[in-house]
Formats: sequence, structure tokens, C-alpha cells
Amino acid sequence: SGEEFMSGNEERIYVSVRLRPLNGKELLRNDVSDWECINDKTIVYKNVGLSASERSMYPTAYTFDRVFRSDCSTREVYEKGAKDVAISVINGMNSSVFAYGQTSSGKTYTMTGITEYAIADIYQYIQKHPEREFVLKFSAMEIYNESVRDLLSVDSTPLRLLDDPERGTIVEKLTEEILKDWNHVIHLLSICEAQRQIGETSLNEMSSRSHQIIRLTIESSSREFLGRDNASTLAATVNFVDLAGSERASQSLSAGTRLKEGCHINRSLLTLGTVIRKLSKSRSGHIPYRDSKLTRILQTSLGGNAKTAIICTMSPARSHVEQSRNTLLFASCAK
Ligand code: ADP
Ligand code: MG
Repeated sequence: SGEEFMSGNEERIYVSVRLRPLNGKELLRNDVSDWECINDKTIVYKNVGLSASERSMYPTAYTFDRVFRSDCSTREVYEKGAKDVAISVINGMNSSVFAYGQTSSGKTYTMTGITEYAIADIYQYIQKHPEREFVLKFSAMEIYNESVRDLLSVDSTPLRLLDDPERGTIVEKLTEEILKDWNHVIHLLSICEAQRQIGETSLNEMSSRSHQIIRLTIESSSREFLGRDNASTLAATVNFVDLAGSERASQSLSAGTRLKEGCHINRSLLTLGTVIRKLSKSRSGHIPYRDSKLTRILQTSLGGNAKTAIICTMSPARSHVEQSRNTLLFASCAK
């Protein structure tokens, strides 16, 4: 078992918030940082210029499983916000780690590091357990406009989703690489990164609208029983999900909103929000996994006994307060 990795955050949905530092653009326009983590779990909005009516309209303090100050390293975010969930795959549990937040809030920055740290830890675990035989399979996909693309293939033909009575939703023809060693991991991660950057003219537009899933499946069996009927095989999947910009989910469709803006709303992101809200309240009842590609693909890694970590990334800038509040609202609903 992977007990040495478990440090006690046992919730099924572990929600944390990561504040990034003000970036160059924000500093150039004299934007100010309005958010502060006052302890390990609470983030507050400290704009002193706020009117009384604004103050009464929005909460000023928000509490989560964990909040990370702008000077926290990705290593620390990983250790405290994602490790237990990602590593539970070793014990045969499916899991998903998400980065959620508006474009340029730090999702890719955060998820890139977390993915590498987690896979490195899984490798380290395997080396310490020669009594079991492990097979690691790596795949990567992107969902853009409800169309699924294989990030490990030069062929950009959309992939179909199939329903398998035993295994749930399967992404047809998705490349699955059997991992050879750590260099192989680094190589595949760099292919994903490169693949994500081609095919569209505007990188920012593309990455703000698409979801990336890096998926690792681990099969293990005890060597002692290998080849026998009673060889017990454990198989589980961990997904590292870099979501589309959350501004795609929060544009309201209220009167006056132009139709064009409505088209920018991202079905997978909206459905994920609904699914996570429902799961956080109860694991039974109807969960609308089938309403989007993202939730169909992740279904077996979201419900049931699966573990989920959501890292909500946000800019501290005053100019982004509206989006930051939306992000915190999403994070609150996920708890
Ligand atoms: P997103 O994927 O949410 O659009 P990125 O991860 O691309 O955002 O981050 C936008 C920019 O901000 C990048 O240049 C990234 O390096 C930088 N950045 C994001 N988070 C941090 C952080 N915590 N510390 C330092 N720089 C960061
Ligand atoms: Mg990104």
C-alpha cells in the first residue's frame, strides 16, 4: 500500500486556492493586489476602498481545505494540495487533479509542475516495491469545442467516445504509451506541450478554450502470483486536467447578453461544475456526466470511490476581482 504517502487529507473532493503574484502586465498598469491569505485555509478580500453596499454584497473571507499564498512554490502546492489524491492511484483508486481559473491565472504553470512531481513520486514508489510488477500507461488528449484530439498523435482527426459496459467511456483509438523510464515521461510531456501549441493561430485563444487531460493508468500485480489464476491485479487511473479558462463558464446568459458571447460558453466546463457540485453534496442521485465530453471521459475518475483535487488559481489584481470572485464561488460550491 502507499501509506507512506498518505498524510491525512481524506476528503473525496479536496479544494484549494492558489494566489499568484501580480504579473508584469498588471504591475505596468499600476494594478494592486487585493487578496491575502491570512492563514492556511482562509483568503480575504482587503480592498479598503470598498463601499458599504459592495461590502454587504460579497463575502470578504473564503475558507477552503487549503489556500496558497502568492510566494508558495508549485512543489508546496503539489505536496499539500494534490499529492495524496494523485498518489492514491497506487492503491487502486481512480483520481483526478484539476486546475480551475480564469485565463492567465496560473493553471498551466501549476498543472505542469504537479503532473511531473506526481509521476516522479509514482516512479519512486514503484522502485521501492520490487515485489509487485507495474505497468504504467500514458495518454494525453485535448477537448476543444466538444471535440477530442489525441495529443500524442500527429493525426488531428477527432476521436470518438464509445461506451463499454465494463470499463465505462472509452476514447477510441487514443494512443497509449507504455512508459519505459523517466526520460520517456519527459519526452511525452514535451510532445503534449508542443502539440498543444500548434494547430491554431492564436495560442491564447486556443488554450483559454480547451481542456487538456494527461492520463496515467497503473496496473500492478504481485510477482508471487504472476501467471496464476488468483494473481490479483490492481488497475487505476489518475487524470491531470488543465481546464479551459473559467471566464468561459461565467458569462451570464441574462437579458442583454449578445448571442455571440453565448457561443463562448464552454459546455464541458459548465457540466463539470454541475457534476462536481452534485458530487460534493451526495454521491447518489442523477449526476449528468453524459452532458459533456469532459465529464464522460472522467466519469470513472470522479464519482464512486474516486478522489478529486481541485486547485483554483487566481490573480490577486483588483482589475480581476469579478473573475476571482467567480473562481472562489466555484471553489466554495465544490466543497
Ligand atoms: P493559465 O494557464 O491559467 O492561462 P499560465 O499558467 O499560463 O495561466 O500563467 C500565466 C503566466 O503567469 C505565465 O507566464 C506563468 O509563468 C505566470 N505564472 C502563473 N502562476 C505563477 C506563479 N504562481 N508564480 C509565478 N508566475 C506564475
Ligand atoms: Mg493555460
